[in-house]
Amino acid sequence: MKFNFGSASLILILFFSAISNCFSQSTEKMMIVIIDGARYTETFGDPTHTYTPEMWNLSTQGTIVDNFRNDGVTKTYRAIPALWCGAWTDVTDTTYQGSETQYAELPSIFEYYRKQKNMPPEECFYILKYISSLWLPSFDPDYGPDYWPEFHSVGSTDKDVATQAQLVMDNDHPHFMLVYLADVDHAGHSGNWVEYTTAIHTADSIVGVLWQKLQSDPFYKDSTTLIVTNDHGRHDDQHGGFQHHGCGCEGCRHIQFLAVGPPIKKNFVSSTDHSIPDMAVTASALLGINPEKATGNIMQEIFSYDVINEETNQNISLKIHPNPFNISTRINYYLSEATEVHFRIFNATGKEIATLVNQRQSPGEKSIKWDATNKRGQKVSPGVYYYVLQIGQQRKTGKLIFVGE
Ligand SMILES: [Zn+2]
Ligand SMILES: [Zn+2]
Repeated sequence: MKFNFGSASLILILFFSAISNCFSQSTEKMMIVIIDGARYTETFGDPTHTYTPEMWNLSTQGTIVDNFRNDGVTKTYRAIPALWCGAWTDVTDTTYQGSETQYAELPSIFEYYRKQKNMPPEECFYILKYISSLWLPSFDPDYGPDYWPEFHSVGSTDKDVATQAQLVMDNDHPHFMLVYLADVDHAGHSGNWVEYTTAIHTADSIVGVLWQKLQSDPFYKDSTTLIVTNDHGRHDDQHGGFQHHGCGCEGCRHIQFLAVGPPIKKNFVSSTDHSIPDMAVTASALLGINPEKATGNIMQEIFSYDVINEETNQNISLKIHPNPFNISTRINYYLSEATEVHFRIFNATGKEIATLVNQRQSPGEKSIKWDATNKRGQKVSPGVYYYVLQIGQQRKTGKLIFVGE
């Protein structure tokens, strides 16, 4: 852009300085922890929270989705790809680095993230214990190996994985981490109740430690969302009990979903029905990416709109709902007196793509709709957009997140 002192440049400077304020309040960073095979009756379904005191404590700062279920195959090799693809996907056998393994037919959230955000591998880590044959994200022609995460497969226990996760945070400061804890499932299969519940307790402590770590690092604090979930539960007592899993019983299906972070409602329990594919789609909305081949739904109700639509100007009160949105969103604001109003939408590079209001308006409650179209009436591509609402001499900016239909 050629720099000049015209009003257009001034507006852009104001615009981008306001936008950087917005970014500081939204989730740019994400940690997803998967606790393999913890049954709901031993996590949030236990009213005493005996094995999950840390997560219970954390839930007062975030949201629990109480009706989150594995609605497909309640086995790890199918549910983990479903979690990270945002869709139930076929898995295909392959050989990778000399080991037999499988890959997902659909792109993973890692691949969407790295490609759409143009992120190098060290911004996106998948941390798990040492396994000889890594389960793979996809070979999707639009995504695939060029966008896989950095695999960090070290150690032999969940505690080792937690240590590695903290090392990765110190050394690399990645924006996006997925931490996979495998011990609960393994202990469950042993059939030893004490071993199984102790493994849950350990995983719970790890979640507490990782959250503390996020809070103690200025890079992560106030800009990171933590999601903790499971791939599947275990049989309820009417279907064989905790030792195994894999059927469609409530014990196998019912899993936990906890989210904590700046854009997430605090001390909130959602009773809306959700299923595994919704996790990656919701995480994508928080990261401002479009999981274009996913089938899940965004967990709209867990977002704290007040935080997403951060108040950069206390004199203007504005409500946007829903945001993130699939088809269209509505913007409401209030005018105390007749004045000039401009509502403009910009893309991520600062190019104005739509003007929704450009006139003098009478006082009162106003409502406008944006259906994600540009000035020529064409649908824009999914992504993060920015609005600038100008009322008289006051200006307010924020994000509009269009995730696509
Ligand atoms: Zn298992
Ligand atoms: Zn079962």
